[in-house]
Amino acid sequence: MAAPAATASRKDDVSRIVIENCAIATVDADDTEYASGHLVVAGNRIESIGAGTAPAGLDNVVRRIDGTGHLVTPGLINTHHHFYQWITRGLATDHNLFDWLTALYPTWARIDEQMVTAAARGSLAMMARGGVTTAMDHHYVFPRGSGDLSSAIIGAARDMGVRFTLARGSMDRGESAGGLPPDFAVETLEGALAATEATVDQHHDASFDAMTQVAVAPCSPFSVSTELMRQGAELARRKGVRLHTHGSETVEEEKFCHELFGMGPTDYFASTGWLGEDVWMAHCVHMNDSDIAAFARTGTGVAHCPSSNARLAAGIARVPDMLRSGVPVGLGVDGTASNESGELHTELRNALLINRLHTEHRERALNARQALRLGTYGGAQVLGRADQIGSLEAGKLADLVMWRIDGLGHSTIADPVTAVVFGAAAPVTLSLVNGEPVVEDNHLITVDEDAIARAARDEAQRLARVAAQPR
Ligand SMILES: [Zn+2]
Repeated sequence: MAAPAATASRKDDVSRIVIENCAIATVDADDTEYASGHLVVAGNRIESIGAGTAPAGLDNVVRRIDGTGHLVTPGLINTHHHFYQWITRGLATDHNLFDWLTALYPTWARIDEQMVTAAARGSLAMMARGGVTTAMDHHYVFPRGSGDLSSAIIGAARDMGVRFTLARGSMDRGESAGGLPPDFAVETLEGALAATEATVDQHHDASFDAMTQVAVAPCSPFSVSTELMRQGAELARRKGVRLHTHGSETVEEEKFCHELFGMGPTDYFASTGWLGEDVWMAHCVHMNDSDIAAFARTGTGVAHCPSSNARLAAGIARVPDMLRSGVPVGLGVDGTASNESGELHTELRNALLINRLHTEHRERALNARQALRLGTYGGAQVLGRADQIGSLEAGKLADLVMWRIDGLGHSTIADPVTAVVFGAAAPVTLSLVNGEPVVEDNHLITVDEDAIARAARDEAQRLARVAAQPR
């Protein structure tokens, strides 16, 4: 039998997934929600979304899902992490930031490609299983002779099917130059810039539905020379990629900046070209009113990492003030040597709770919808991808999570968003990344979780043995 019409056959090219009968929080500009709605995914895009059941007569529906008892949200977006730390969790558990760094740098400086691969898989698996659809890794430890770490990390994300930004980090201020890392763990200025540019050239994809992007990401003011900050910013702008670093994390860092540069961190960033709408910074805990105003004026984004800030006794970031001023804010797990859970969905809850402890800001405390926005649309903003991901709207990429909220942990909380944000970590019945399932029934389907756990444990033990031996 002949094909009925050209238009019909073209329409048939794309496979559709229909999800119905679920609560939906779109996190669009109006915070549109549906108590019972539908969502149609066509290929890797959201085709339609709305109240009630899906439109009748859809072609090529390969899967129709009854979402009863679920909340569907945009996939979570992580904006700060250090994957390699997956194999150094649970160490220096009572230290503040600088003592913790000094204790761990000698071990971190012994990592190799096999260790980093196992750690990246562990970090990615933990996040993806908990609803993360876009991950990032700020990797800045490149010991000489350790292999092609950037490609190994990117390969791990690709294998898992998670959308990914590699923030190619670097350090060139070793101990002998007044920095914290040991000299043998740092790169030269020229070496760091050349390797970063090569990583951008090899891996950065600027397209709408890119699965891999690369940012330029010198580690922090206390491990990087001023020249690397300045030339790093120039490199990123020449290549049209984003910039990322750590900023204003602790009181000690502020003191360090004043002693070394004669100014606070935000002024130092301004003086090296590091404020702008193509920049996002982790932490930003110690920010005064004029620092926040400078971030707002320039569109500089923030990766808020509440659990890590608590773990290292760094302080409480002024997130409600930042949001009121118009600063883009996303959430970050941070490295799992300072947030052993490695989960992002619990950071929604922690962001909300920890900010309420800040007595000066109690009146302006975050609510559940704001917390959900931080973990979704806010993350997309700071990664420069708000047109593509971060909210559920027709035409955007199909990155979404179905949270089960009719089980023991959530069935008595009437409001679905409150259930997911205030309640225990909700089971993930399904997550889609780029229209493809990554989690089904609370399990990763793209990789073997148990094999990842075993390999990560083996590499953690090997790193401990290597680090115990003299160089
Ligand atoms: Zn960090």
